Amino acid sequence: MGRIRILSDVVANKIAAGEVVERPASVVKEMLENSLDAGATQIRIDVESGGRRLIRIADDGCGMLRDDALLAFERHATSKLSSVDELEAIATLGFRGEALPSIASVSRLVLETRSAAEPTGTRVEIAGGKLLACDETAFPAGTTITVRDLFFNVPARKKFLRSEQTELAHIASLVTHYSLAHPGKNFELTSGGPANASKELLRATPVASPRERVFQVFGAAVLDELVELPPLSAQQGAFRLSGFISRPQIQKTNRNSIFLFVNRRLIRDRLLLHAISAAYHNLMPPACYPFALLQIDCDPGEVDVNVHPSKTEVRFRAGSFVHDFVRDALRETLIASRPAPSAPLPTSPHAAPDAQPGARLPYSEFTQQLENFAFDQGAAPAGIDPAQPRSVLPQPFLQPPPAPPRRFDFSAPPIPIGQPDTAFEPLRLKVPETHGGFPDGAVLDAPQTMASLDDLRVLGQIHDSFIVAAGRDGLWIIDQHVAHERILFEQVLGQQQRGQVEQQRLLLPMVLPLSPAQQVEYERIAGELDAAGFETEPFGHRTIAVKAAPAGLSPADLERAVYEILEIAETELRKVSVSDLRRGIAASLACRAAIKINTPLEAKKMDWLLRELSRTQYPMSCPHGRPVALRYSTRDILKSFHRI
Ligand code: ADP
Ligand code: MG
Repeated sequence: MGRIRILSDVVANKIAAGEVVERPASVVKEMLENSLDAGATQIRIDVESGGRRLIRIADDGCGMLRDDALLAFERHATSKLSSVDELEAIATLGFRGEALPSIASVSRLVLETRSAAEPTGTRVEIAGGKLLACDETAFPAGTTITVRDLFFNVPARKKFLRSEQTELAHIASLVTHYSLAHPGKNFELTSGGPANASKELLRATPVASPRERVFQVFGAAVLDELVELPPLSAQQGAFRLSGFISRPQIQKTNRNSIFLFVNRRLIRDRLLLHAISAAYHNLMPPACYPFALLQIDCDPGEVDVNVHPSKTEVRFRAGSFVHDFVRDALRETLIASRPAPSAPLPTSPHAAPDAQPGARLPYSEFTQQLENFAFDQGAAPAGIDPAQPRSVLPQPFLQPPPAPPRRFDFSAPPIPIGQPDTAFEPLRLKVPETHGGFPDGAVLDAPQTMASLDDLRVLGQIHDSFIVAAGRDGLWIIDQHVAHERILFEQVLGQQQRGQVEQQRLLLPMVLPLSPAQQVEYERIAGELDAAGFETEPFGHRTIAVKAAPAGLSPADLERAVYEILEIAETELRKVSVSDLRRGIAASLACRAAIKINTPLEAKKMDWLLRELSRTQYPMSCPHGRPVALRYSTRDILKSFHRI
């Protein structure tokens, strides 16, 4: 007798569950997607013990017909797909028909459902994949699925679950993300346990715009840091992009604050992640990431969603087009917003965004903690497993945290003592008439308003490194090195593009020894070095002679710049485009040639520097992403002196 056997459905479902159901949050994801596919507008999720003991999701969607209620638990049973052709253009979140049978095979599940087309509903009870009951029942239109004791029959899988709080954090994060993609729907999430009373984690009532939903979910403080993308479309509306991105000053050390939706499906996608990084290239240090909430809507035929069992990956048919579209859209939005970072006001670490007058939304304490946790990257809030820090995202979204970015330390508050807790104020406010010296009844800028650099008046220099200047909108401190770096960077890029790089000929060629790796890189990018204004040639074994170089570099800086450029080519930029390499070269030259810190400057020179800075395309951060200037807005100064 042969040794190969066909597995029973029960075993097959359990195996499939290994792919689809990784943890309680995966159950929530599949059921949430089913509710959304069913056209629900009210979705309520209750969990107990981080979803291990209970997950219940109730919706007001289309419900299931009596005959379908049982069929839904057969493998590959789906109402969403009937032919191979339809697989080419899937408009629903589900299509594989695997989720319900998989979940039912590893839990005790009760389905209650009624379609508006039938007078009575159906109740189906299944445990470990075995049908226990199927009855007629009175039930409102819609569907409620209750999943108890997840993995009760798969002890190996159960062992891999993290603490209840961690699993709960994954669920909360997932529901939050879906609520961001569907602002017009009502999402509620509560958590309880047998011992404790149930607690509301999220209540997002329907709102008219994504902006309002971001406010609901993350609060005013986060919204302030974001720029909303203008509605953008490409290829006659075939691709539409919308969402929010943070300014370059907001730097996260991992990708956990990047949320990507394609046709309202939460995904992770290397192509889009790369496009985002490319948009921030030279605006942010390489190991840093922004906050981004992006929605791409396109014809379902443009994207293949059937590339991963949990449907979290997609493949675009026109991948490189989508990449460039997203990169350019983000970059243009960033350049148009040209923000100035505000100096940090002394704030209470516990100040909550909803302390803002007029904030009308009920945040639960826990949701707030999750938000702070996800955004601040700081210590774990109470109730979250500190052994699992950094992310409240489902496991597949985790990336190892890279080394922290180099940054100047401006964290010290400008005025350290006796400050009121004024972290969050209305965005625009009137200066009281009683305060002379300010424009009559002037409306002060919100921090994100484009600041005018043009009319700054230099007051002096501190530490021979920072220029202090007065402006209409407050007090400015400008890092002289970084400012000059930005000016030179754009100059060098411009010269490179025009093919007119200012060059200096060296009296004697400079001979530089190279390592084997540097030699390889040198051969690869020699043409780019020429284009950047260098004149180099091989000079014996692993040695090059530099005969001319871009103007403005001292011999010591020149040597360092060459090595730095070879290093850039060798590491991060190996696989990226020529234009990125050029930007890298320009950034390196600018950094080397820029006025150093600890250099006393005459008033005239400082004036010149600010004027030139105001003419740059993106004056607010250096090519490596460090801030150029800090602004203490008049509003903040008034507040700090208790004048408003
Ligand atoms: P898929 O979503 O891939 O079709 P599932 O196993 O998740 O597969 O669900 C099987 C079928 O059960 C769905 O195609 C749908 O017809 C039905 N279904 C599941 N959940 C719901 C719900 N909340 N409301 C209405 N129908 C549902
Ligand atoms: Mg489904």
